[in-house]
Amino acid sequence: MAGFDELGLSEAALAAVDELGYEEPTPVQEQAIPAVLAGRDVMAAAQTGTGKTAAFLLPTMKGLGRVRRHEGPRMLVVTPTRELAQQIQEVAQVVCAHTHQRCTSVVGGVSYEPQREALDRGCDLLVATPGRLLDLMGDGSCDLSGVRVLVLDEADRMLDMGFLPDMRRIVRACPDDRQTLLFSATLSDDVLKNVGPLVHDPVRVEIAPKGTTAETVEQYVLGVSAEAKKRVLVELLRREGSDRVIVFTRGKHRADHLCRILRKKGFSAAPIHGNRTQNQRARALAQFSAGEVGVLVATDVLARGIDISEVAYVVNVDVPHEAESYIHRIGRTGRAGERGWALMFVDADEYEDLRAIERLMGATIADYPRAEGFDVGEHPATLDPTRGEEERNARGGRRRRRRRSRARASQ
Ligand code: AMP
Repeated sequence: MAGFDELGLSEAALAAVDELGYEEPTPVQEQAIPAVLAGRDVMAAAQTGTGKTAAFLLPTMKGLGRVRRHEGPRMLVVTPTRELAQQIQEVAQVVCAHTHQRCTSVVGGVSYEPQREALDRGCDLLVATPGRLLDLMGDGSCDLSGVRVLVLDEADRMLDMGFLPDMRRIVRACPDDRQTLLFSATLSDDVLKNVGPLVHDPVRVEIAPKGTTAETVEQYVLGVSAEAKKRVLVELLRREGSDRVIVFTRGKHRADHLCRILRKKGFSAAPIHGNRTQNQRARALAQFSAGEVGVLVATDVLARGIDISEVAYVVNVDVPHEAESYIHRIGRTGRAGERGWALMFVDADEYEDLRAIERLMGATIADYPRAEGFDVGEHPATLDPTRGEEERNARGGRRRRRRRSRARASQ
């Protein structure tokens, strides 16, 4: 593996790497940085947690020079949520301190005026969520005609959240000869079709092939009755510990409700979902990171991409409807080489959703080995241990056929 100093980065970027405390580049950094330095567009399949933020900030900033007062950004990072914007901004501040550039972020949920003022002072790098950026473009506070590098972060997430028209408007406001770097957890057909045309002859970087999950996460399932889920969760937290645990659930109200139950049972828990204000969300995250809140109860919309280290384990109280959400959910634990584990409760109605996840991953999730003594209710889902065999056989058959035909071709 190449070290950071072999990738062609500037002295300033290497100093930032030092300050960030990174020793070796991650695979996405190793693959993307040389391509970005060569001026190529990049389309990368890389989840949050792979080191993609540094992969786009380290090779770009230094070469962009410095803007003067009133000048618009030279680099723009568009990302779907405020939390992600904040995480990017944190790395950006370190890089910019070394390159003597200015970065600012514009996100929704906070007042406009300080953002307008920051833009007016001139910023080299702008990190933005789409809605607020369009507002500020609309009233003339933000001009993207000087953008040389555009990063579309978590493109699949932006599509899921209905930001495609916004993304297109933002891209149209940037010059055509810009460099575009596109990051997406997966390069699904949907992403390729809708966002693919926004990059030009990209170098493709694929870190985790479609549907694979962080290898450091041990995954388990437990068949339960729908009505037993809350009880099993409480028991689970008692047995496995209730520090640094993220619980995922389907809806905002359900998240609030679960939180109330957990608190009643004596756990420190906080909800994080789209109905909470920016301040409430930031506070919940900060308290969780500081260890003041042990259990974060989250919905998919917001928790995706949040980078919290040392999450002990993840509980999926409900099976997500979208198979790919599962991969994002369990990606919250076992990050950057740490070991983690994840357990998902499955009731009878969710069996098909579980199968969709397993088909996407090409693997069957193991039974939770410490289930003895749990009261899983009267009619728990029965998880057939041979499920998935048909698909495995079919895959094996295809592989055998391919091997045979390759053998024939080489004769
Ligand atoms: P990201 O995918 O950009 O959200 O990064 C995920 C996490 O990995 C962050 O906590 C970074 O601090 C960390 N990270 C990024 N690059 C490296 C690296 N080369 N070595 C160690 N940690 C890293």
